Amino acid sequence: MTQQELVGTGLRGPFALAADSIDEELVDDCPGAYALGFIDHFGRFSITFVGSAGENLKSELKARIGTAPQFKFRHFALQSQAFEKECEMFHDFMPVGNFLHPSRPPGSGWTCPRCRR
Ligand SMILES: [Zn+2]
Repeated sequence: MTQQELVGTGLRGPFALAADSIDEELVDDCPGAYALGFIDHFGRFSITFVGSAGENLKSELKARIGTAPQFKFRHFALQSQAFEKECEMFHDFMPVGNFLHPSRPPGSGWTCPRCRR
């Protein structure tokens, strides 16, 4: 069984949260959602923070370097899909680093698939 199946995020990874692995794995100027975390004593990816980027996931992740050892991610074609994935992970995992519900871009009209917020 892979890490991905154990965790159930549907994201790729984990990869080291560092510039070279981000450059290798991500494409430029593409929306996406991500989870930051670490491998725990049981070999599982433990999530400490989730987020999404509407326009450029690569630069968003680079800005997070140093905040966690590893990351998982998935690119999406649409910004709204990245937002919905972030919401689902927020509700599923309640990461310690996420104090507030993900906020949708003003005027987008998007709603959280879980709580309709
Ligand atoms: Zn919600």
